[in-house]
Amino acid sequence: MEDKIEMIEINTTQQMNQWTQSKKQEGYKIGFVATMGFLHEGHLSLIERAKEETDIVVMSVFVNPLQFGEGEDFEEYPRDKQRDATLAAEHGVDVLFYPTMDEMYPSPMSVTLTVHHGVDVLCGASRPGHFDGVATIVLKLFQIIKPDKAFFGMKDAQQVSVIQRMVDDFHLKIDIVPVDIIRESDGLAKSSRNVNLSEVERDEAPKIYETLKKAKQQAQDNQITSALEMELWVEKQLGTKLSKGKIDYVQVLRFPDLTEPTTTFEGEMILAIAVHYDHARLIDNITWNQVEI
Ligand code: AMP
Repeated sequence: MEDKIEMIEINTTQQMNQWTQSKKQEGYKIGFVATMGFLHEGHLSLIERAKEETDIVVMSVFVNPLQFGEGEDFEEYPRDKQRDATLAAEHGVDVLFYPTMDEMYPSPMSVTLTVHHGVDVLCGASRPGHFDGVATIVLKLFQIIKPDKAFFGMKDAQQVSVIQRMVDDFHLKIDIVPVDIIRESDGLAKSSRNVNLSEVERDEAPKIYETLKKAKQQAQDNQITSALEMELWVEKQLGTKLSKGKIDYVQVLRFPDLTEPTTTFEGEMILAIAVHYDHARLIDNITWNQVEI
């Protein structure tokens, strides 16, 4: 691979497909980072990881209407193409795929994916149809870009789980690489939606991660030994700490299969939280491997 190539921007699915096909024929490994833009350090960490593990990094920016429910923040979702293009180029993205709505959805979809497993919990339960929209757009992007590896943030842990199952179910030859959550210095998980928090909301939002960490510690110290106990403890803690935020869910599951543990914690676990603010719904999670004593 050449030392340094300038980032190129591609706007059509056909051009994108031809570009990666020709690079694959030349023997390059393609890494893919799917985003909805308004880039922050979480996205940039995915790019960094992709650069470490592949030869060419393609990043898509597309706010996908299919994954937003009625009354959700599709219109309010922050967008800034120029800023995204500059950050992407600075961080070594080789191709910025920036399709228009008409390119991605030239006509209403006549076939879409329905996710059956692991969507009756967490965001899947709160946002019916959300993961159908996610799976459908990610499959479309995979078909257009044909990456060897695709990088997804653990901030959206349920998404990682759903995409991995889709890849398995459809025999796609793509490695899914989960990447750790990047946080602000006060612990708040970086999110494009954070700009839609008021000052007061932004001040209290770090309490979410604070509580996640404490709960994990309690499990590791065997002070809390079951999912239900942990959920109740977290709800109580957050209930007293949040004045603006309204808890959407607090849930403890096994990861990555997203099933409920029977009685006590078993192996790899996830504690996930969603909190509603006036103009932003925040999600965060923490995972741990419960070692039997
Ligand atoms: P989005 O633009 O919100 O759809 O996110 C695009 C990708 O970036 C997804 O794989 C997210 O999980 C990932 N991502 C978003 N925020 C973070 C974060 N704070 N840390 C790591 N990855 C993130």
